[in-house]
Parts: sequence; C-alpha cells; structure tokens
Amino acid sequence: MKNISVIGSGTMGNGIAHVFAQNGYSVSLIDIKEEALERALSTISKNLDRMISKEKIKASDKETTLNNIKIFTSIELGVKDSDLIVEAATENKDLKFKIFKDMDVYAPKHCILASNTSSISITELAAQTQRPQQVIGMHFMNPVPIMQLVEIINGYSTSDTVTNTIEELSKTIGKIPAMSNDYPGFIANRILMPMINEAIWTLHEGVGDVNNIDNVMKLGMAHPMGPLQLADFIGLDVCLAILEVLYEGFGNPKYAPCPLLVNMVNAGKKGVKSGEGFYSWTHGTKELVVSSSFH
Ligand code: NAD
Repeated sequence: MKNISVIGSGTMGNGIAHVFAQNGYSVSLIDIKEEALERALSTISKNLDRMISKEKIKASDKETTLNNIKIFTSIELGVKDSDLIVEAATENKDLKFKIFKDMDVYAPKHCILASNTSSISITELAAQTQRPQQVIGMHFMNPVPIMQLVEIINGYSTSDTVTNTIEELSKTIGKIPAMSNDYPGFIANRILMPMINEAIWTLHEGVGDVNNIDNVMKLGMAHPMGPLQLADFIGLDVCLAILEVLYEGFGNPKYAPCPLLVNMVNAGKKGVKSGEGFYSWTHGTKELVVSSSFH
C-alpha cells in the first residue's frame, strides 16, 4: 500500500487525508468542489500547526505531510494509481452508488474500495461493483486526526485477505481497529444512537431537564460529554437519519426516533451546525451561549 485516494474533502475526508499523508502515504484528495479542496488543505495546515505547537510533530513534518497530498476534481484522474480508495463523500445512497460504480471503472484491478459511511450497507455498496470481495467499511471517527478508533466493516462478500490488509494498514496510521459485520449501524451507531434517543425520550417525558440528563451521564458514567450535547455536536438531522436506518433495517420499534427529535429537525434545530439544538451555540462554532436553550 502506497497510494491512497480519498473521495470527498469535507469534515471527514480532510482528516482521513491528513492521517494517511502524515504517515508517509501518497494521498490523492478528490472533491467535486474546488473550494472544498482548498478549504481542506487549509484545515489540514491549521491542524498540523496545532500539533507542532503541542510538540506532537516537528515543524518539518508539516511540509512533508502537505507535500504528500495532491488534489483532484476528477475521480478518473484521482484514482488511476490507487492501492486503496476511502470514499468519504456526502451521506447519500444514490450518490455513493454512483461513486462506487465510477471507482470500479477507473481504479486499478487490485485496488481496495472502502467507505467511511456511517449508515449505508457496505454489502449494497459492494453490489454496485464487479469486485465485491474488495469492498470494505473504514468508519473513522470525528475528528479523525485525534480519535483512535477505526471501525472496520466486513461486507457480505469481503474477503479475509482484504479484511486483514485493512486491519494492518489501520495500525500503520496509528489507529486501533474494531471489527464489525455489516448490519445496520455497525457497532458504534447501533449502541450510541439508541442511547441518544433514550436521552431525548427522557427529556420529552419530563423525567429530567437537559442539564440533569447530561450531568448524569457525564458525572455518573464518566462520559466526556452528555448524550444531548453529543447529539448537538453530531447534528440532530444526522442522528435522525441513522435512527431511521436502524428502525427500517431491523424492523424493531425500539429504534423508532423520539417524536421530539423529529420535531426539532423539522423546525431546523439541528444542533451546533444550525446554532440551536438542546443547547444554544454561537453560530457555527462549538461555543456554548447559554447552558440550555431548551424549552
Ligand atoms: P461533508 O459534507 O463535510 O463532506 C462531504 C464532501 O463530499 C463535500 O466536500 C462534497 O463536496 C463532497 N462530495 C459530494 N459529492 C461528491 C462526489 N460525487 N465526488 C467527490 N466529492 C463529493 O460530510 P462529512 O461529515 O465529511 O461526511 C462524509 C462521510 O463520512 C459520510 O458518509 C458520513 O456518514 C461519514 N461520517 C461522518 C462523520 C462526522 O462526524 N461528520 C463521522 C463518521 C462518518
């Protein structure tokens, strides 16, 4: 493994490109939007500066890392020499189906096709290609350069060789892999989203207010932040979409999204990204304005 392509240069794509480049891989970062690529390079540069100031890397590592990244607006050009492609484009099934078809056409035959999807079936993505045994999930966590976990998801047809290759590769970029099979929500979201949903039900039914619910989980269970604050960080629309995938995928009412979550998303209260969710946020930042805006 030498040449890695990353498709999508948003929140996750820039972090994935960063960690591969910092660990000596040659990275092709691909996006349909030129400005998204420029923003990604500037984010990576700032994140490297922060690491230098914390003495986690040397100043010379910054230049080496940035030199390892090339940018492309065409999948065809960006994947032609790839050993592995990590797809991290917008979470939309039809869009990802098209990208998987394109990757299959333009990437070399040996290339492994991975997706960073949070909720789309790896088996369904694999079925868009002529190489389903070489398709796998690599679910990184946000922020990618900081979070240690990568959840590796085996599709129905993923070969053991491909799984082992990706498991070993993940270690070379400083990540700790957790292996999962391909069922809705994989491991991470299957456990996390019902917890968030239950916290919202607890609020909805008036058992506790926002601060008390989050404090119970922070101070009593040693979680770094409460489930309602975490939902605001993830985006309430994203939480709702993942719960819907779990609900439909298992056909089990225990995953049904709380009506309060549905109402908030319909009202445009999406958390940090919209400035308001269970808390009020200084627009677009993670600065808390008041402890809880919820009423
Ligand atoms: P984002 O909206 O920040 O970035 C998506 C990028 O994909 C955008 O820059 C967009 O221009 C680009 N894009 C769209 N269509 C494209 C195409 N056809 N070709 C190339 N680029 C294209 O999204 P994100 O939050 O980085 O999420 C990306 C993926 O990662 C999703 O599958 C999401 O489920 C998953 N994920 C997100 C998080 C998170 O916390 N944000 C965590 C884990 C996994």
